[in-house]
Amino acid sequence: MNAAHPLASSAVQSDGAALPRTFGLVAHRRHRTAHTCALARWAHACEPAVRSLQLRIAAVGGAADALERLGLFTTLPVVHRLPYGHEGGLMKLVSRVAGGIRPEDELSGVVYLMDPLDPSSLYPEAQALKRQCVTHRKPLLLTMAAAIEWMAVEWANAGGPALSEGHLGPSGRLRPLDQQSLALIAHDSMKSRMLDFAAQHFDVLSRTPVRYATGTTGSKLNELAWARGWPADTPWVHPFRSGPMGGDAQIAELVLDRRCQKVIFFEDVHVARQHEADIQLLERAVCSVGDEAACLHTFDMADTWAKAWR
Ligand code: PGA
Repeated sequence: MNAAHPLASSAVQSDGAALPRTFGLVAHRRHRTAHTCALARWAHACEPAVRSLQLRIAAVGGAADALERLGLFTTLPVVHRLPYGHEGGLMKLVSRVAGGIRPEDELSGVVYLMDPLDPSSLYPEAQALKRQCVTHRKPLLLTMAAAIEWMAVEWANAGGPALSEGHLGPSGRLRPLDQQSLALIAHDSMKSRMLDFAAQHFDVLSRTPVRYATGTTGSKLNELAWARGWPADTPWVHPFRSGPMGGDAQIAELVLDRRCQKVIFFEDVHVARQHEADIQLLERAVCSVGDEAACLHTFDMADTWAKAWR
């Protein structure tokens, strides 16, 4: 398994210098048509961060066309146009998250502005993209809110402006931490990573107004919080049912009601999951309110995010 840190460029040029980092870009039709679409808002909001971080963009056909049509092709450094989705563009992204054929094609992360009502969100390549991003610990940004915040997070961690509301300008309003409610979920093999994450970032996480969790993850997190001196009569997280018993679906309802903005879900993608449908339901709920909700799929993503808010 590739253990490269997601923020490091693992590919090197023949002279030994690190290759510039490239993010894949895909946008479903709903997110790439109007001038106020999610793709345009992301491009406008993130242009300073993308330029400062010297990120390159590899856009799948439809997203590349849309950037051109919206007059944004030169706003972002789109270095590479991949084929349309129906010609295999998304499949190529999956390969390139895993390392690709040539070192210079490797992707450091993917912005995939997903419309859960677009049938291609259910295609195997969409599932494979998530699996490979999680496997290789690379960020996968499925909503406009996730993609805008992520670029600000990377920029802040690289010495750019500290995260604060509105620092990305009117098209990229950032929701402050004290207005972001969290859901924390970890599959069994990931529970110790979740406890590590909560312990390392306890103060940052405690600044959020409310925290929710699935049943078993939640009881472990509450034990951790109480051991750290959190008031004994107050749960640190509100636990719902265990994931396989419907906890993911309960958290999805909170997301749909705009009462939970961030789902930190450490998934085990290497085992068969009896409640696969519930897991996907939760992710699709997040994409349904993509202007404000986001998923963080791995310890590395969550750690990077929490460091930036610290
Ligand atoms: P749990 O649920 O926290 O109750 O283990 C997580 C899951 O398996 O989805």
